[in-house]
Amino acid sequence: MNVQRLLALITLATPMALHAQRPALSDTTRAYVSVDAPVIAITNVTVIDGTGAGPKADQTVIITNGRITAVGGAGNTTVPSGARVIDGAGHTLIPGLVGMHDHTFYTTAAGRRAQLNTSAPRLYLASGVTTVRTTGSISPYSEISLKDQVEKGKVPGPRMHISGPYLTGPDDVVERMHITTPEQARRVVNYWADEGATWFKVYTEISRENLRAITDAAHKRGVKVTGHLCSVGYKEAVEANIDALEHGLMANLEYVPGKQPDRCPGLDRNTYLKLDVNGADAQSTFKAMIAKGVAMTSTLAVYEISVPGRPPLDPRVIEAMSPDVQKEYMATRERLAGQATTNTASLGMLKKAMEYEVAFVKAGGLLAAGVDPTGNGGALPGYGDQRNYELLVEAGFQPGQAVQVMSANGAKVLGVDKDLGTVSVGKVADLVLVRGELARDPLAIRNVVTVFKGGVGYDSQKLIGSVKGLVGIR
Ligand SMILES: [Zn+2]
Repeated sequence: MNVQRLLALITLATPMALHAQRPALSDTTRAYVSVDAPVIAITNVTVIDGTGAGPKADQTVIITNGRITAVGGAGNTTVPSGARVIDGAGHTLIPGLVGMHDHTFYTTAAGRRAQLNTSAPRLYLASGVTTVRTTGSISPYSEISLKDQVEKGKVPGPRMHISGPYLTGPDDVVERMHITTPEQARRVVNYWADEGATWFKVYTEISRENLRAITDAAHKRGVKVTGHLCSVGYKEAVEANIDALEHGLMANLEYVPGKQPDRCPGLDRNTYLKLDVNGADAQSTFKAMIAKGVAMTSTLAVYEISVPGRPPLDPRVIEAMSPDVQKEYMATRERLAGQATTNTASLGMLKKAMEYEVAFVKAGGLLAAGVDPTGNGGALPGYGDQRNYELLVEAGFQPGQAVQVMSANGAKVLGVDKDLGTVSVGKVADLVLVRGELARDPLAIRNVVTVFKGGVGYDSQKLIGSVKGLVGIR
């Protein structure tokens, strides 16, 4: 063997050895892969890097063995010979989105409750969501097994941080775990922590005493707790050592006049519509959260679906739904549209929730985002995450900030920010290539072309094509 050939083999051997650490992709998964090479160069692309910075034009991004190894201007970034080159002209590259309220189940207003073990992971990945936290499970064992299948390359899907069952009070619906004593709380937390849950979600009816038992037991196991609250206010939850809070303003009932401890009051819209987000009440909530590093998850897309006439009808959403779900959802939209003149409070509340989140960030709070594909079913896995981007921009965030909320901030909350969340040298190549200039046109977030997870590029359209008509069924 001549020296040149030996050298060629050695240079090839290093990336191949590293490549081999990646699980072999099954034929099912491989069918959706459009880019897979040891070295990939995305050239002439606009980058919004997830640090909060604005767009940078004409960038070259190099991926080597699944990690980002160079990011820079076209003039000073060399494309290695042999790299698979993707011309990113007219496209924007952002970090893989981190969906922080991204259930694997789905609901409609007709009472449908469906576990979407096939369509949810595909729609998340297709939409650019490369990491999810499921944030409350109605089928924790499905999520544990799904996470395992995705990690082994058997099925396409995002990286998953999974939750145990919802932990709520004794009078809630049957799909959630009714916690009545601290002993039970500890037992349930330990059971699911043993099985692999890394988060719990406490739900609306939980008591302060049981919440504290849950956070104590969870923290002993290195497991975190977030909440969609009602009976407990945000400041009380912070006192009880919660790690994060879901949904922002509308799940913080501590501003309802005369609220009784451990009781879930009605949402008093008059008070809430008048809430001054820069006033003492809201600011003292933010101060308490920030002092203990408690993050907030924005879920604007799921709020918006209760507003008459919103969101604009997205044909992709309808196509993904099963025929029965299409009927259920369109009936809901029509019913809401009929209230357009009488129900103005819903829009007012959406706007107030936006103000609240902007003020939280301005105060120094850590805001992440997720879809929450529940409620009346209009916010779908993945598509609803994309809608969040449009709504965060509508709320007043700069495009760079909105991307940061949806990527780096989520990675921080999950404790994976060393590897994920920004387009930076050394990080794992979870990246989303979208057609168009995202900073100028928020709707470009819907034009996902390729989603890179660990440097492997997935064909967004092909994933979407595989789940048409499945949302609401599987
Ligand atoms: Zn939820």
